Amino acid sequence: MLGKSSAKAEASQAVVLTREQHSISRKDMSENALKVLYRLNNNGFKGYLVGGCVRDMLLGLKPKDFDVVTDATPEQVKELFRNCRIVGRRFRLAHVMFGREVIEVATFRGHHASTEAAEKVAKQPKSKFNPNDKANLSAHSEDGQILRDNTFGSIEEDAERRDFDVNAMYYDIADFSIHDFAGGIEAIKNKTISLIGDPETRYREDPVRMLRAVRFSAKLDMSIGKETAEIIPSLASLLANIPAARMFEEVNKLFLSGNALKTFRLLLEYQLFDQLFPQLMPLLQDQTSREFRLLEQLFINTDNRINNDLRVTPAYLYAALLWYPLETRAQQLSVEGGMNMHDAFLLASNDVLGAQVKRIMIPKRFSIAMREIWQLQTRLPKRFGRRAYQQLELPRFRAGYDFLSLRAEIEGGDLAELADWWTEFQQGTPDSRKDMLAKLQKAQGGFKKRRRPRTRPKNKS
Ligand code: ATP
Ligand code: MG
Repeated sequence: MLGKSSAKAEASQAVVLTREQHSISRKDMSENALKVLYRLNNNGFKGYLVGGCVRDMLLGLKPKDFDVVTDATPEQVKELFRNCRIVGRRFRLAHVMFGREVIEVATFRGHHASTEAAEKVAKQPKSKFNPNDKANLSAHSEDGQILRDNTFGSIEEDAERRDFDVNAMYYDIADFSIHDFAGGIEAIKNKTISLIGDPETRYREDPVRMLRAVRFSAKLDMSIGKETAEIIPSLASLLANIPAARMFEEVNKLFLSGNALKTFRLLLEYQLFDQLFPQLMPLLQDQTSREFRLLEQLFINTDNRINNDLRVTPAYLYAALLWYPLETRAQQLSVEGGMNMHDAFLLASNDVLGAQVKRIMIPKRFSIAMREIWQLQTRLPKRFGRRAYQQLELPRFRAGYDFLSLRAEIEGGDLAELADWWTEFQQGTPDSRKDMLAKLQKAQGGFKKRRRPRTRPKNKS
C-alpha cells in the first residue's frame, strides 16, 4: 500500500515518491526483470519498471508480467543481452528471454508527429536508429487510429502516450523511487481510472482502450472516471476497425482473467458487448431469459475455475457463448429450409462461426474444438449399446459433458436427466454401467427386433 504521501512535483510535473514513501519492494519483483534493469543502469542507460506491474504492486496485487522501459534503443538493448531478440512492427521492442520468462524492454515512445526526440536518440553513441527511415516513425488512419508507432522520445512523452493514469507510473531502478506522471497515485486512492488526455482522441487513436477501460475497472475494482466512461457508447462501433486477430487476444483477456462476470456486465452497460458478439445481442434483451442466464453462469464457472487454478480454454468459452445463436439458426434452417436437423446443425455451425470470425478471429485449433463440443450436444443423448462407451473415449468428451451440464443447470427438464445420467455413468463400475444401459433400453421399449432377411425363396406351389 502507499506510504504517507509528502510527494513533490517535478519540473516535468511528475509526482515522485521516494523509496521511503511507497511500499513497493524488490522482493515482489521478477529477478529477471531486476537483472535487466541493473544491466541497463550499469551501462549508462535509464531503466524503469512501468505500467501494469507498478500499478498492481501498489495495489497489493501480483503482477502478471514486468515491463521495462529505457532510453536505450532496441538495438542497444540487443547489444547488452545475448538472449535478446527484436520483435514487433507496430511497436518495435526488445524481448530478453530467460527460459520461459520474457522481459519486454521498450524504448521511450515520443509524440507521433515529432521527429525531434528520434533524432536525439539517433545521435546517441552507438545508435543504429535512423530517424529519417519512415518505417521507424508513426502513421495514422483517417479515423485517427494509430497504425504505426515507432517514434522514440523522452520519459515524459512516453508517459503521455500511455492509456490510463494508473498505467503511467515508473519505478526507477537508480534510486527505487516511483515517478507518477498522470495522477496514478491519486487515482488509486480515489478508486477511479481515467484516460490520459482527451478521451475521444485517445479512443479514436486506439479503440481497444474502451475494452481496456472495462477490463481494468473489473480487475482493479475501480470505477471509470465520468468523462472516460460516458463517451464509450457513442464510440463503441470503432471497434469494428480493429483487426480480428487482435480482438481475439483482447477478448481472451476480458473473459479469461478471473473477472468475466463483472466484465460482462460492464461490457453490456457500455454497449460494447454488441460489438464483440453481434449475433448474441438479439437474444439478450431479457435478463431472465435462458440465454442471458447461461452466459452469466458460464462466466461464474469460468471465474471459479481460474480462481482455483483449473484449466480454461477459449474453445469452451466460445462454444458456450455461441450455442444459442447456433441452435436458433439450426432451427430456422430446418423449419424454413426444410433441412433435416443433422444437416441444419452443420450448416448453422458454419454460418455462426463465419459471422463471428469477422469480428473475432478464432484460430482453427479452437474452432475445431468448438465444433466438437457442439456436436457432442447432439450425440450425448444417443447412448445405446456400445455408443455410450465410445462417447466416453472422445477427446472432447469432458468439455462436451461440462457444457451439457451447464445447459442442464439453466434449462432443467430432460436435459437435467441426461446430464445426471452421464455423471453417474462416468463414475460407475463396469457392472453398474451395464445396469444403467439395460434400464435405459427397457425404458425406451428395448431394441426393435430386426426381421431376419428372407434367405430362402418362397416355396413354389
Ligand atoms: P495487465 O498486464 O494486467 O493486463 P497492463 O497494464 O500491464 O495490464 P499491458 O497490456 O501489459 O497492460 O500493457 C502494459 C502497459 O503498456 C500499460 O500499463 C500501458 O501503460 C501501456 N499500454 C498497453 N496498451 C496500451 C494502449 N492500447 N494504449 C496506450 N498504452 C497502452
Ligand atoms: Mg502487463
